[in-house]
Amino acid sequence: MPTPSIDVAQQLAQMRRDYGVGLRQELAELSTWAQTAASRCDSASEWQAVRDRVHKIAGGSSTFGFIEVGQSCRVCERELDAILGGRAPAVYDGIIERLAALPELLAGAEVGPDGEYEVVESLGGAAGDVEEPLIYVLEDEPETGAHLSQILESFDYRVRLFDDSRALRATCRTQRPDALILDLHFTGADDIGGLEVGESIQAGMDKPLPMFASEQSTDFETQLRAVRAGVVGFLAQPLDPIRVTALLESHMRAHRAAPLRVLMVDDDKAMLDYHRLVLESAGFTVKTLSEPDATLAVMEHFNPDVLVLDVRMPRCSGPELAQMVRYQPRWLQVPIMYLSAIEDANAQLEAMTKAGDDFLIKPITPNAFVASVQARARRARELSAALSRDSLTGLLKHADIKERMATALAQARRRDEPIAVVMLDIDFFKRVNDTYGHLVGDEVIRALANLLRRRLRVSDMLGRYGGEEFVVALPDCGEAKAVEIIDELRESFSQFQFSAGSESFTSSFSAGVKMPGADEDIQAVIAAADERLYAAKRAGRNCVVGHG
Ligand code: GH3
Ligand code: MG
Ligand code: MG
Repeated sequence: MPTPSIDVAQQLAQMRRDYGVGLRQELAELSTWAQTAASRCDSASEWQAVRDRVHKIAGGSSTFGFIEVGQSCRVCERELDAILGGRAPAVYDGIIERLAALPELLAGAEVGPDGEYEVVESLGGAAGDVEEPLIYVLEDEPETGAHLSQILESFDYRVRLFDDSRALRATCRTQRPDALILDLHFTGADDIGGLEVGESIQAGMDKPLPMFASEQSTDFETQLRAVRAGVVGFLAQPLDPIRVTALLESHMRAHRAAPLRVLMVDDDKAMLDYHRLVLESAGFTVKTLSEPDATLAVMEHFNPDVLVLDVRMPRCSGPELAQMVRYQPRWLQVPIMYLSAIEDANAQLEAMTKAGDDFLIKPITPNAFVASVQARARRARELSAALSRDSLTGLLKHADIKERMATALAQARRRDEPIAVVMLDIDFFKRVNDTYGHLVGDEVIRALANLLRRRLRVSDMLGRYGGEEFVVALPDCGEAKAVEIIDELRESFSQFQFSAGSESFTSSFSAGVKMPGADEDIQAVIAAADERLYAAKRAGRNCVVGHG
C-alpha cells in the first residue's frame, strides 16, 4: 500500500486554501447581512437560515483549521438555538456583532502556515495488495528451517530463512514481512534468545507485526513474554503442514481482504472531499453523497462496511436517514457513525437513540477519524464473516456462497465475460473418517479449504457447499483454463501427507467444471457442475471433468 506521502499533505493544504476562498465569501455575506439585520424586522425564518449556515461553517471551518471562525460560529449556533427554541429572549445584538466580526477572524487565521495537518498515517487495510505473503523465519537448526520453509512454500508463501538475528533485524528494517516465525530456543552469537529478537524487531515496527513461535510453550512466564512481544500463535511440534498453514491463514486473512468500504453522506461537499482524501489515503474505498436520496440505492451495489452520516442536513437529518437504512433487514448489521459539529449532548443522545452506533465530533484529527472508522468497519466485517462462514474452514456457507455466485453470474453476463463454476468433492472421504476418526477427517477438510483459499485469486469465490463438498466460481476464466487451474490444485492436494498417530496417508478430490448456459440460473449451473463431478467419480476419481 502506498504510504501517505507529502502528496496527501499537499492535497489537504490545497483543499484548505480552496475552502478558505469560499469561506471568505460566505463570511463576507453573513457579515453584510448581519450589519443590516438590526434595521430590518427580524424574522425567525431568516434567523433559522442563518443558524443553518453558521452550523455548516462551524463544522467545516474547524475541520480545515480555521479554529477561531469555527468557535465563533459555534457560539452563534448555540445562542440562536436558544432563541429559536424559546429558551432565551429574542435579543440578537451579541450574535449580530459576532457575525459582523467573522471576516476579521478569518483574516487573522490566514497568517498561519498552510498544511498544518498531521500526515495521515496508514493504518493498514491492504488496498489492492495481492502479492503472496512474505514470511521471515528465524531458526538456527538447518533441518527444521528447511522443513518449515518447504511447508510454507508448498502453500505459496514467500519464505526467507535466517540463522542470524542481526541479518534478520536489518532485513526487517528494509522490508517489512507479513509475519515472522521465531524459534524460542534460538541462541545467537551474542547470546540473544528468539523472543528477545522478536521483541526488538517489534519495537522498531510502526504497526504490530504478527509473530509466531515455532514451538509450543506451556511456561507461564514465556507465554506472557510472548504475548507482550506480539506473538499471536504457537506452532505445535512436530510441525504439521495443515495446522501450520491454518494458523497462519487465520492471522493473515486481513492481508488478502479487500479494502474496507465507507459510504459518507454530508450536505457539505468540501467536508466530503476532505474526509474522502483522508480515508482513501489510509487505504479505504470511499463513496460520498451530498444528497441523501440515493443512499439506499448506492448501498445496494456498494455494500459498505460502515456508513458515516452528517447529522444536520437540509432535507433529511442523519438520524432520519439512519432509520430508513435500518428499515431494511439487510442493513441491520452495518455500523452507522455520525460525524457532526453538534456539541449539544442531548442532540447527540437523541441521534443515537434513533439509530446509530457512534458519534464523532468535527473537527476530528485525520488519525482519530481513520482509527474510529476502521475499528467499526473491521469489527463489522469480522462479525458478518463469523455469521456467514463455516467454523471448520472459515469459508462461506451454502446459502452465502450461492448468493454471491448469483451476483457474480449476473455481473459476468452484464460484462459479457466468462465465469467458470466448479463443484469439488473429496474422494472416499467416508473411509478417512472410518479409518482415522472424525477429527482427522476434519483436518483433511481444513487442509483442502486452506489450499483452495491460498491458491485461488482474491476475486474468485469459494464456499463449503456441504460436508466434504466445495464450490468455486472463477470470474473471467474460460473452461479450459478453469480445468487447468483445478487440475493443478488436484495434483497438489493428492500429494499432501496427512498424519494420524504414527500412520500417514494421502487423499484426493474429484471435480466438475461448467460454464453457464445462456439462460441457466446459478442453481442450474451448480447442478450441471455436480453432474460433471459425478462423471469424474465414475471415471475413477482423482480427476477433473470439463466438457460433458
Ligand atoms: P465419494 O468418493 O463417492 O465422494 O465417496 P465419499 O466417501 O467421499 O462420499 P460420501 O458422500 O459417501 O461420504 C461423505 C462423508 O463425509 C460422510 C460424512 O460423514 C462425512 N462428513 C461430512 N461432513 C463432515 C465433517 O465436517 N467432518 C468429517 N470428519 N466428516 C464429514
Ligand atoms: Mg466424497
Ligand atoms: Mg459427498
